[in-house]
Amino acid sequence: MGSVHEVRIAKRTGFCYGVREAIDKAKESAAAGQLTHTLGQVVHNEGVIRDLQNIGVRSVDTLDDVDHGAAVVIRAHGVKPEVFERAERRGLDVIDGTCTWVIQEQRQLEELVEDGYTIVLLGTPRHPEVVGLLGFAPDAIVVDEETDWDRIPRRKRMALITQSTQPPWKFEKLAAFLVSRAHELKIVNTVCPVTIKRQEDTLETAREVDLMVVVGGRHSANTKELTRLCQITGTRAVQVENARDLDEAGVFEGASVVGVTGGTSTPIEDLRDVAERILRLAGTDEAMAHAPELARSALDAAAHPAGRTTSLPTITPTPVGAG
Ligand code: SF4
Repeated sequence: MGSVHEVRIAKRTGFCYGVREAIDKAKESAAAGQLTHTLGQVVHNEGVIRDLQNIGVRSVDTLDDVDHGAAVVIRAHGVKPEVFERAERRGLDVIDGTCTWVIQEQRQLEELVEDGYTIVLLGTPRHPEVVGLLGFAPDAIVVDEETDWDRIPRRKRMALITQSTQPPWKFEKLAAFLVSRAHELKIVNTVCPVTIKRQEDTLETAREVDLMVVVGGRHSANTKELTRLCQITGTRAVQVENARDLDEAGVFEGASVVGVTGGTSTPIEDLRDVAERILRLAGTDEAMAHAPELARSALDAAAHPAGRTTSLPTITPTPVGAG
């Protein structure tokens, strides 16, 4: 018999609004009978990709894989302006799923370039959002970890801006570091509010439980940051991609209440599945017997239906050419 009698899901989890809208746009296009693609995986989540494939939405790596006239959805991270131009030249129906927050970042970068600032962009160099942002400020200096920062030159007028999902503490630390590198320093805080709320709610849950399970892509920076934050509270944390990754009851030994949180591209239903898996694997007799109901009520307590960050319900697409 296991020791877990309760699983709590952190509040305000599930997709962020940017990811949800990009997915919804792809679903709506397919449902309207349009041959639809996404440029790159809309989220790195197998279940979501499978659902999209089931309604005919294919993920492609390049615009060359999209036939003339078909629809291509730009995902929430955004792309360089050249990608839009190329897609239009190829006669594709471009559906812009760039998150409104990212669009704002892109505009602010353009203004900084026009105003002549040397731009420092805090971000992961090859992350698609950063690649897209560089299309608006090709000369920006991209830095990530602190060990990178010494290569930032001294300049008269400097501006600092960030990829949306960078941790706020890192942004603040870099801002302080740059004070001595520039005569004039402009700071544009583009850390996404969803990232901040997610971190706050994760910390709140981590402080209340014996163990945290963080659900998200193995390479997702915002998921790794959640794991790190949980550990800062002194609560042990394990990171998994989905419920199937949990196969050892030993991980939960001695834990009575377990918390679950997830990255911005993890559907909230995955958190419910993880909660159920924990209860089946390591629950007390009582918890094991009622695992599905307990997982469902953990989900209900985390977000009432109207506040959930899930995507649209399953849509049955109209066959292409019908109607
Ligand atoms: S994390 Fe924020 S900026 Fe990034 S896609 Fe989601 S809502 Fe948009």
